[in-house]
Amino acid sequence: MIEYTEARRFVLERCRRAEPTVVPLAEALDLVAAESVEAREQVPPFANTAVDGFAVRAADLHPDRSTALRIVGTVRAGMSGLDSPVGPGEAARIMTGAPVPPGADAIVMVERTEVSADGNTVIIGEAVNAGDNLRPAGDDIEPGDVLLEPGTRLTAAHLGMLATVGVTHLAVVPRPRVGVISTGDELVEGGGPLGPGQIRDSNRLALRALLRSSGFDTVDLGLVRDDEAAIEGALLAGVEHCDALVTSGGVSMGDFDYIKVVLDRIGDMRWMQVAIKPAKPLAFGTITRRSDGAAVPVFGLPGNPVSSMVSFELFCRPGLRQMAGAVGEDLDRPTVLAVAEEPLTRRPDGKIHFARVRCTHDLATGTHRVRSAGAQGSHQMAAMAAADALAVLPDGPTIEAGAAVRVLLLAP
Ligand code: AMP
Ligand code: MG
Repeated sequence: MIEYTEARRFVLERCRRAEPTVVPLAEALDLVAAESVEAREQVPPFANTAVDGFAVRAADLHPDRSTALRIVGTVRAGMSGLDSPVGPGEAARIMTGAPVPPGADAIVMVERTEVSADGNTVIIGEAVNAGDNLRPAGDDIEPGDVLLEPGTRLTAAHLGMLATVGVTHLAVVPRPRVGVISTGDELVEGGGPLGPGQIRDSNRLALRALLRSSGFDTVDLGLVRDDEAAIEGALLAGVEHCDALVTSGGVSMGDFDYIKVVLDRIGDMRWMQVAIKPAKPLAFGTITRRSDGAAVPVFGLPGNPVSSMVSFELFCRPGLRQMAGAVGEDLDRPTVLAVAEEPLTRRPDGKIHFARVRCTHDLATGTHRVRSAGAQGSHQMAAMAAADALAVLPDGPTIEAGAAVRVLLLAP
């Protein structure tokens, strides 16, 4: 057996970052930026009002008595301003986002004003400071400000900020397109009656869903029989139009476990027995794409449904995220330190166990607590479905109730 960290390092060394490509901003969410962006304009582009009210000259108003100002016009959002500046003793009606007219240096909120019956005069009972309720040009962004560094994962707010300064397209690291293959003579598709010895293929659906929810594009490469030639054909065809392949089944010690046999023959593969439970066997390697010579990563995951999903979390997701430009902590799911609410049972066996657990967060105390999500067999999907986290149980005895345990959060 090899340590998890070694197996992971081996995988990450072979998952190279994809070449950047330029996409419309609307398609850049959750991708990693491949360029820096420097602002070329001011935001806001002109001084404007933060509130609906009256544009005034602050010096006209008194703290201890009301002032009547003559209303000289209305400035709406989208207008360029007024015909003439606001003079002493004058005010202009103004709507949020409208440019502050020349002459005025503060805005009084409409709630603090009263308009005379004839509509020509506004009465203001308080003083204001120059600059009140006014957003100067450039108080958010100035030309030359660096808005984005390469390597940033793009959030909704990044996209909004870039749109503000007129960016329409951006160089990003593209999301990998990942082909998914199930292998096994016992597998059937759909909901029909099962023949003797048959089970339904669940991994392909679950893995494709995991890929999509992790932000990757997926291609269904189907169900392939335990047949060397069929597997070889599927892998060679897959690498021609995918950036990576994920297979399940056929990597254990069985007589018909051909994935590792074929990968070893047509690719540069390492078959690993990783010191983890579930998901001990992993066949990982690269196949050279004929058309351009690229080394396409192939993840040969174990067939047991829970193993395939845990293996995905521990190897595929970080590897594929690295291909998509992620670095450091961004490769992995977030982890927290939690308190075991009940014993998390295990025996010393030289392996790290990844237990399917439910994790609750107490907002008041800031603590996380975990309980087992159910039966922990590598075929038992009920507990995987009930789990929202994996508890990392280091080699050793049972984690007793009340002890701290590190947890990988699978759901937000
Ligand atoms: P294998 O890794 O091929 O030895 O398969 C290990 C176990 O996982 C066996 O019990 C298989 O029947 C089961 N299995 C393999 N592939 C799938 C799949 N796509 N969906 C559900 N179970 C599977
Ligand atoms: Mg099999």
